[in-house]
Amino acid sequence: MISFDEAYRIALGSARVLGEEAVALSEAAGRVLAQDVTADAPMPPYDKAMVDGYACRRADLGGPLRVVETIAAGYAPKKTIGPGECAKIMTGAMLPSGTDCVFLVELSEAAADGAVRFTGTATDDNIALRGRDYRRGEALIARGARIHPPEIAVMASVGCVRPQVYRRPRVAVLATGDELVEANQTPDAWHIRNSNGPQVCAQVARMAIAPQYIGIAKDNAESVGECLSLAVAQSDVVLISGGVSMGDFDLVPGGLRERGFEILFDRVAIQPGKPTTFAVGEGRCCFGLPGNPVSSFVIFELLVRPFLYALMGHAYRPLCVRMPAGDVFTRKSGTRRAWVPVTLGADGTVRRTGYHGSSHISALCGAEGLIAFDEGVMQIPAGTLVDVRLIRD
Ligand code: AMP
Ligand code: MG
Repeated sequence: MISFDEAYRIALGSARVLGEEAVALSEAAGRVLAQDVTADAPMPPYDKAMVDGYACRRADLGGPLRVVETIAAGYAPKKTIGPGECAKIMTGAMLPSGTDCVFLVELSEAAADGAVRFTGTATDDNIALRGRDYRRGEALIARGARIHPPEIAVMASVGCVRPQVYRRPRVAVLATGDELVEANQTPDAWHIRNSNGPQVCAQVARMAIAPQYIGIAKDNAESVGECLSLAVAQSDVVLISGGVSMGDFDLVPGGLRERGFEILFDRVAIQPGKPTTFAVGEGRCCFGLPGNPVSSFVIFELLVRPFLYALMGHAYRPLCVRMPAGDVFTRKSGTRRAWVPVTLGADGTVRRTGYHGSSHISALCGAEGLIAFDEGVMQIPAGTLVDVRLIRD
């Protein structure tokens, strides 16, 4: 048995970036940039009015101002503003030359002969100067960044309409177990529905990767072998759940070896998830996820997700928050590092869920994060600041 940190090091050490492709910006959310994004022009590209109001010289704020032009957003000013003059201007419009401030329309009143007057005592400039947000040539997003909606906005703003991104791994998902039927089938009294298959597929899909679902392998060497061959033939990564424990019918390790895979680890000092298996062969990788649904979920989050991101050139860092424990957290055995599901209380404390172990499939519904008991730690007293690894991002 190896430590989780060692398992993580081995798995991520086997990850090779898969290649690059260009995609339409509209398809880029969730992908990882394989290029740096730089500014093709300053932002804003012109001195820009930040409010609806009147653009004038600050020195002229005390007197009546003749309105020489109305400037809407999207149109070039036609006049230079001289002393005693102003332009009515809309938010987002280009500032006319000769001016250095815009006062709010709410702080104006009509004066004689169609002129206006500033009624306030002081005003901000209310101008976004050209290049205030970024300068031409400035580096805005670095290669390796994950693309979220704000990155989409920045790429659009610089005209990066076909960003270069890393290729996504082809991921095959497979379940094992004679007790399993698919969720749309009626189980006999001795059957259960396959929940890991859909759960793992959903975890993969949440990373903007379309999983390839293979099905359920029966607990015999032929079926496991056949399904593994099918999965391997159409994927870079195989995620197979169940069949990796010590039972008589846990046939996945044998099936992997027969197909030329080398098993780099098969026991990890982590709870849940001890039988986690990782194998490599012919440019492909396979994770044997434990069969229990909570274990399968947790190992995907802790190990598979960072691994899949590494294949896409992204150094994944989970979102964490540090909050006080709202209650005492205890456990029975301290031999392995353990993760337990929690929720974030409205009072700003970490709350337990009714969790009784790795088979407790419904315990994760509504859970917002996981907290760790380090090896040897049996109790986390109420009030202790704990790091919550968020699982709902
Ligand atoms: P195994 O690792 O195959 O011994 O499975 C461990 C436990 O997880 C057993 O109780 C299985 O019934 C359960 N299990 C395995 N695969 C699945 C699955 N795909 N969906 C739901 N439960 C499963
Ligand atoms: Mg099984």
